[in-house]
Amino acid sequence: MTSGSDHWFDILVIGSGTAGSVLAARLSEDADVSVGLVEAGGAASDPRIAEPAQWPLLQGSAIDWAYRTIPQPHTANRVHEWARGKVIGGSTALNAMAHVRGHPADFDSWGCAGWGYADLMPYFLRSEHYTPGANAHHAVGGPLHLIRPTAPHPVTEAYMAAGTEIGIAPTDDHNGACMAGPTLNTLTIKDGKRQTIADAYLAPALGRPNLHLMAETQVLSLILDGTRCRGARLADRHGERVVTAGLSGYQFATGTSFAAPFVTATAALMLSRALRRSRSMDGPTIRQLLIESVRTHRREHHVQFRYHSTVLPDCRSFHHPAADEFQWNHRYQ
Ligand SMILES: Cc1cc2nc3c(=O)[nH]c(=O)nc-3n(C[C@H](O)[C@H](O)[C@H](O)COP(=O)(O)OP(=O)(O)OC[C@H]3O[C@@H](n4cnc5c(N)ncnc54)[C@H](O)[C@@H]3O)c2cc1C
Repeated sequence: MTSGSDHWFDILVIGSGTAGSVLAARLSEDADVSVGLVEAGGAASDPRIAEPAQWPLLQGSAIDWAYRTIPQPHTANRVHEWARGKVIGGSTALNAMAHVRGHPADFDSWGCAGWGYADLMPYFLRSEHYTPGANAHHAVGGPLHLIRPTAPHPVTEAYMAAGTEIGIAPTDDHNGACMAGPTLNTLTIKDGKRQTIADAYLAPALGRPNLHLMAETQVLSLILDGTRCRGARLADRHGERVVTAGLSGYQFATGTSFAAPFVTATAALMLSRALRRSRSMDGPTIRQLLIESVRTHRREHHVQFRYHSTVLPDCRSFHHPAADEFQWNHRYQ
């Protein structure tokens, strides 16, 4: 439905990354529900995106928001580059393609009914096509095409052997019975090419008349009615406009965990409404608690790579001319 230059959808999803692509694809399965999907980036047309070995080179490119941290007291006050995808497919267009669900104990420690690891397992299974074949931890037939590397680089094998040598017991699958321990990662690669979340979920859904993708369009702010989000103010190359969303109970869905503060704030609003049903705290208090919680509980892991083509003359995994003599210090979520 259109009114002037403004649009109205039943559901508005912001961001076409991991969360947004899945949300938009699944929600638009109901032909009676109109879904608007807003994405600041454009098509994943950079040929390096599809080529798995080139993933480290995408950071700092046009598809990276290229965030930077404030000086971090625990790393000698260094400022860290913090990559995030700005493209259809979000960070799955530039990430390392490792398919890691997360540690079961993390899900279980949240204490949220219905969100424990066992509760989520049916959804993990439904999402994947595990090419080695179905087993107790994996399924076939889902949109995510998962492979296990069959010819790892000798340095990778040596690295895993070193872990075992110092007493870290190997495991057979990071998404299996035991997450900890050296093993090869399962990867989201199909026919030798990266499979982004948009390839897996969004592209097959884009032909639906009730799903409307607004690419190269950035959400500037949210339109709030009390603690309820009613829409968003957007900007694209034609200018600014307002989009509203109105299906009762589902007006708004954010499709990113890491973006402008207003998106985090909206997630807090949504959660605060949910929490208020079960606790006797007022809205502002809950909202402040949630924002504080995101600020203090956010987790990050550190990865360090060093490439020297003289050391790895035939590195099949990561070698690229631009990576010669390339030392790289990198953080990602
Ligand atoms: C370099 C790198 C390597 C990684 N490697 C791995 C890995 O190997 N395995 C793994 O499991 N995870 C990895 N990750 C993390 C993983 O990719 C992310 O956790 C996941 O994609 C996050 O999903 P998301 O939906 O929250 O956000 P994203 O996938 O980042 O999607 C957010 C989307 O929202 C859009 N957006 C943001 N703000 C706005 C706005 N104002 N208006 C419109 N659109 C907006 C963005 O452009 C983006 O497309 C990696 C991440 C990075 C950066």
